Amino acid sequence: MARIQAIRGMNDVLPEQTPIWRYLEDTARCLFEQYGIEEIRMPIVEQTDLFKRSIGEVTDIVEKEMYTFEDRNGDSLTLRPEGTAGCVRAGEEHGLLFNQTRRLWYSGPMFRHERPQKGRYRQFHQIGVECFGFNGPDIDAELIIMTARLWKKLGLSDHVQLHINSIGSAEARAEYRRALVNYLGQYEDQLDEDSRRRLSTNPLRILDSKDAKTQEILQGAPLFNDFLDAESAQHFAGLRAFLDKAGLSYTVNPKLVRGLDYYGKTVFEWITDSLGAQGTVCAGGRYDGLVAQLGGKGTPGVGFAMGVERLVLMLETLNLTPASLQDRADFFIAALGEGAEAYAFEVAEQLRDLQQNVRVVMNCGGGSFKAQMKKADKSSAAFALLLGESEVSQREVTIKPLRTDQAQKTLALEEFIQRAPQMI
Ligand code: ATP
Ligand code: MG
Repeated sequence: MARIQAIRGMNDVLPEQTPIWRYLEDTARCLFEQYGIEEIRMPIVEQTDLFKRSIGEVTDIVEKEMYTFEDRNGDSLTLRPEGTAGCVRAGEEHGLLFNQTRRLWYSGPMFRHERPQKGRYRQFHQIGVECFGFNGPDIDAELIIMTARLWKKLGLSDHVQLHINSIGSAEARAEYRRALVNYLGQYEDQLDEDSRRRLSTNPLRILDSKDAKTQEILQGAPLFNDFLDAESAQHFAGLRAFLDKAGLSYTVNPKLVRGLDYYGKTVFEWITDSLGAQGTVCAGGRYDGLVAQLGGKGTPGVGFAMGVERLVLMLETLNLTPASLQDRADFFIAALGEGAEAYAFEVAEQLRDLQQNVRVVMNCGGGSFKAQMKKADKSSAAFALLLGESEVSQREVTIKPLRTDQAQKTLALEEFIQRAPQMI
């Protein structure tokens, strides 16, 4: 029978990779705790309308990338393509947002039907932060300063660059959109196909186009900066002042618009050139209108999401995974003969009682001492504990160092358990 394979673009994370994932996740979690950010966990499936109303009907995500299906009772449901919409929905539903301030984080899988390639998958993982109830640029700065600290902790600081922009108020964007459409309309037949379509649907996204000819035409396009409203300009100046004071370097990138409709004012991305085309590892911005747009009482919001696969790829490519991640067992227990297996359990459990981080691997499954020693070697344990009939009857343990040429020795169980903490 043909073997059933994983779905294209949906990856297994294998045992040799999970330590890096955990390292990244643990580092992020500790960081969020340092900043007083609380964890929230949302469902992976939401009503389709949640994403249509938040991300926007004419964005790439909603038009072409969502996994949408009908539930058995006929409701249209969607596998979440991102976390912000669900976080706002949950916050609103449980009264976490109105008339208060909140800092929340989440992590987990997201789903987009894109063309799979390095750094771009159909199931991928994000770690995201969303903050509610803060109007000023101080929180925008805090989030950016915090992500800079994360890069530093991971050793990535020299490999990422910060791009920021302000995309202003909804009114300013509408005015700019008209000016941009006017200008680009003159070159319609020279634009790439996607951009031509976006001219009537989502013209700001054309600024993002990778097409060389379109980029050339854009050289002469009106600049958003000339349309920026006074309030957004002041907000942006405030953010820049905080970043300058904090000593962060950044590029103001007037073409940075982001692919989701809900953003306004601040947008930012951390970009790397060590991954090829999929260079954005963290992206976010302000979305003051989103809560109201989803039916809540007006509450400002700002947040970001990081792409876990891309960051893991960076850590691997740049060889930045700490040596301590090499998962090593401390003890491998080989047991042979009458009563040896039951005694092995006793020794193993006593070791595990000693301290939480001791790693004890039992042979399990029998076999000659020679076969068991082969498994011990493969387990990369530092010591093998040999339990034969004499050890069982004397209540002793024979300790064989596997990674040094020290001689093996036999100790009474009690003495061994006393000495074991120094061997871990
Ligand atoms: P891109 O321009 O690369 O398509 P995006 O603007 O669609 O990114 P966001 O929706 O802002 O991405 O998601 C935040 C982050 O999640 C991205 O910066 C990226 O690191 C990661 N990400 C987004 N889509 C994917 C994907 N299909 N596979 C892997 N990571 C992804
Ligand atoms: Mg995308």
